[in-house]
Amino acid sequence: MKRKWILPALFFLVLFQWACTTDFSKDNPTLTKNALGMNTLIQISIYDEEIDEQILDEAFDYALELENRLSRYVPDSDIAKINGSAGVGYVQVQAETVDLIEKCMDYSEQTEGAFDITLGALTDLWGIAVGKNHIATQEEIDEALRHVGYENILINRDDNAIMLAKQGVILDLGAVGKGYISEKVREFLLEKGVERAIINFGGNIVLIGKNKNDKPFRVGIQEPFNDRGEYLAVVSSEKTALVSSGSYERNFRGDDGTLYHHIMNPFDGRPVQNGLSQVTIVCDDATRADILSTAVFVMGVERGLAYIEQLDDVQAVLVTDEKKVIVTDGLKDNLELLKK
Ligand code: ADP
Ligand code: MG
Repeated sequence: MKRKWILPALFFLVLFQWACTTDFSKDNPTLTKNALGMNTLIQISIYDEEIDEQILDEAFDYALELENRLSRYVPDSDIAKINGSAGVGYVQVQAETVDLIEKCMDYSEQTEGAFDITLGALTDLWGIAVGKNHIATQEEIDEALRHVGYENILINRDDNAIMLAKQGVILDLGAVGKGYISEKVREFLLEKGVERAIINFGGNIVLIGKNKNDKPFRVGIQEPFNDRGEYLAVVSSEKTALVSSGSYERNFRGDDGTLYHHIMNPFDGRPVQNGLSQVTIVCDDATRADILSTAVFVMGVERGLAYIEQLDDVQAVLVTDEKKVIVTDGLKDNLELLKK
């Protein structure tokens, strides 16, 4: 009898996870394929006139291979092995895993710790991304915070080996994994000669080329706290990645109405509360866009905007809890607001 619930639950999960941006072009893809992965729905649509269906299958296989390498929940993954040896010893991993972790640490430094992939103890405590939904006590938070901090990541580049300095430190690539894997899938499709495509990882969008009419793809930005498919704005983008982070994604409300969501402040150990409800980053690299969408969300309007202003070629749309929409100058000509 229990089995009856599995399909509806899965369906709900898929509906729920279809995140903040999605394809807004009226163009019909030549070929499109969906699959569940990365705890979300993945869709790849190809717009080239001719396409070998096998390429799409290979792209999904590749995404799965990368997930199996990077997910902390896959027992044999690089990340699970590093976590399992925290405080014990170095673990040899793929060179690409080291590259990615180094990149994350770079952004931790740049954002003065707002972005930090060592906060697994905090995400486990609150359990929001996995639906545990525990309201943590200050004592529990203090204990978890003792195991958070990117300075705990030790890297031996010569051997591609990584170690976490003490037991209890847990790597969590939730804020960068989807961006990274979608970027890798884009590279894969480019290598196979694909010239027009939309890669959608639960609302994180990566583009290749333009649509069939040689116009930029139009990508909708989901309106925070509204039904999926209610759009706030449309971006006509030639940039290759649009990634959103928001407090409306995975969350629950406490009895007093407080919203607890999955983006954590690594300093106080609680879900970020700074008046922002969504950050969308538009730039030409999905790994970077994914990192920055989370980082800017944590940094808040003022610091976040100041930070991206001094980066090359990064644009953003910020939405506050009061539904105020802030668009960076470089994006204004390519963005159409659908709601006042
Ligand atoms: P989504 O998963 O909806 O795409 P994000 O890219 O913002 O959204 O990632 C949120 C996930 O990132 C959380 O579920 C958690 O695993 C992790 N995370 C939360 N806060 C931070 C943070 N300050 N720095 C790095 N990772 C974080
Ligand atoms: Mg992110």
